[in-house]
Amino acid sequence: MGVQLNVRNPRTGNVDYWITPPTSEQLAAECTRLREAQIAWQQGGLEQRIEALQQWKQAILSQKDEITNALVTDTGRLSVSILEIDSFISSIDRWCRLAPGLLAKEDEKVTVIPVIRLRQECVPYPLVGVISPWNFPLLLSTIDTIPALLAGCAVIVKPSEIAPRFIQPLVKTLASVPKLRDVLTYVEGAGETGEALIEGVDLVCFTGSVATGRKVAEVAARRFIPAFLELGGKDPAIVLESADLELATSALLWGSVVNTGQSCLSIERIYVSQSIFETFIEKLVNKAQRLQLAYPSVENGEIGPIIAQRQADIIAEHLQDAVAKGAVVHCGGKVEELDGGLWCRPTVLSQVNHSMKVMTEETFGPIMPVMLFSMIEDAIALANDTIYGLSAAVFAGEQAEALDVASRIDAGAISINDAGLTALIHEGEKNAFKLSGMGGSRMGAAALKRFMRKKAFLVKTGAVPDPWWFNTQ
Ligand code: NAD
Repeated sequence: MGVQLNVRNPRTGNVDYWITPPTSEQLAAECTRLREAQIAWQQGGLEQRIEALQQWKQAILSQKDEITNALVTDTGRLSVSILEIDSFISSIDRWCRLAPGLLAKEDEKVTVIPVIRLRQECVPYPLVGVISPWNFPLLLSTIDTIPALLAGCAVIVKPSEIAPRFIQPLVKTLASVPKLRDVLTYVEGAGETGEALIEGVDLVCFTGSVATGRKVAEVAARRFIPAFLELGGKDPAIVLESADLELATSALLWGSVVNTGQSCLSIERIYVSQSIFETFIEKLVNKAQRLQLAYPSVENGEIGPIIAQRQADIIAEHLQDAVAKGAVVHCGGKVEELDGGLWCRPTVLSQVNHSMKVMTEETFGPIMPVMLFSMIEDAIALANDTIYGLSAAVFAGEQAEALDVASRIDAGAISINDAGLTALIHEGEKNAFKLSGMGGSRMGAAALKRFMRKKAFLVKTGAVPDPWWFNTQ
C-alpha cells in the first residue's frame, strides 16, 4: 500500500478521513487485470453492457442516501450534491438510450472502385483512465466513464484526493454487478497516483486545472496515447443595452455562484453596457444579498463552504489584489472562517479592469466582477482577452443581436439569455477553445465515439485485376 493521505472536512477544517493510494506495482497489476477483463466485456456485446449498467443504476438507487451523505461531507453542500447524483443516474439512462444508435453496425458500402467494397467497424480502446477534480466529485468521475463503458472499454478512475469519501459507497454498489465490477475500478490517491495511472492506460480523460492538464498531456504524448483534456475557464458574460435586466441578473447570479462558484463554467466576469450599468449593479447586488450561507446547518441557505483550502487562498488573494487596485466591493468581499470551514458570500465588484487577477485568472469562487463598456467591439475584445475559451454568455433583447456577438467570442459553448447551460444540457457538441482543453467533444453524441478507433475493411469482391497492378502477363 502507498502512504496514507489526510482528507480535510470542508465544514470543520478538520482531517476526519483518510485514503490509501495503491503502490505503482498494484496500479500496474490492476491495469493488466482490467485489460484482460475488457475482452469479455467487449465481446459480450452492447445489450449485455446496457443490462449491466441498468443493474448498476438500480444498485445505486438502493444506496442513494449513503452515496449522497458521503458526497455532502466531501463538499459541505446539500442541494448540489443531490443534483449531482440525480444527474449521474440520468446520464446512465441517457447513454443507454443513445448507445445502440451510435454503435449500430454500418452497412457495407460501394467504393469508387465497383469491385472493392468498404466495411467499417469501431474498436474500443481497451483501457480508459479517468482523472477527475473535486468540485463535482461524483459527476466528473462518471461523465466520461459511462460512455466509455458502453463503448466497450474497461475504465480505471482516480477521483480527487480532496473529495474522495463518495468512492467507497459507490464502489460497494458494484458488488451486485460482477460483470461491471470486473471492468470498472476506482482508485484513491493524489497526483502521484494520477501520474502512475496514465502509464497504464490506452487513453486518458482528464478534468482539472490547466497546469495539471499540461503535465497529463506531456505524459500522454510520450506514451503516444490520446488525452482528452477538460480544463479551467474564465467565462465572460456580455450584457447588451437591450437585455432584460431582471432575467440577466437572475441568470448571472445563478451562473456565477451556484456551487459557490466552484464550477469550470462559472461566469467569472461580466461586461455590461454603460447605459444600463447602474441599474444592473443595483439589481444584481439586491439579489446577491438575498442568498444565505449553508450555515450553521447544511440545510440552510444556498452557498456552501469553499471545498478546497488552497482555493480559499486563491479567492482571498484575487479579492485583495482587486481592492488594492481600486475595485469597489458592493457585497460580500472576503473569505471568512466559521467553525473551521472557509466561506465566501456572493460578492459583486465594480471599478474592475484587466490589470486585476479577478478579471484574468480563474478565481473559482462566488465572485461577480462587473465592468462597463461603451462599444460592443470593446466588450468582445475584453471577453476574448483571456488564455481560456471554455464557455460564455450573452444577453440581448433580440436573439439575432445576441448570436452575432456570441459568434465573435472564442469559446466552445455560449448560452444566450441564460448562463451555464452546458452544465445541464449535454446535447450540444463543443470543443474547449485555447487553454481550456484539448480533444473531441465531451458533450453530445461525439462523446461516445471518442472511445472508439475506426477500422476500415476494404474487400475485393470480384476476381479481376486492378488497373494499377503491375502488368506481369
Ligand atoms: P487539479 O488539476 O489540481 O487536479 C485534478 C486531478 O488531477 C486530481 O484528481 C489530482 O489528484 C490529479 N493530478 C494532480 N497532479 C497530477 C499529475 N501530475 N498527473 C495526473 N493527475 C494529477 O484540479 P482541481 O483543483 O482538482 O480542479 C479544479 C480545476 O478543474 C479548475 O481549473 C476547474 O476549472 C477545472 N475543471 C474543469 C472542468 C471542465 O469540464 N472543463 C470541470 C471541472 C473542473
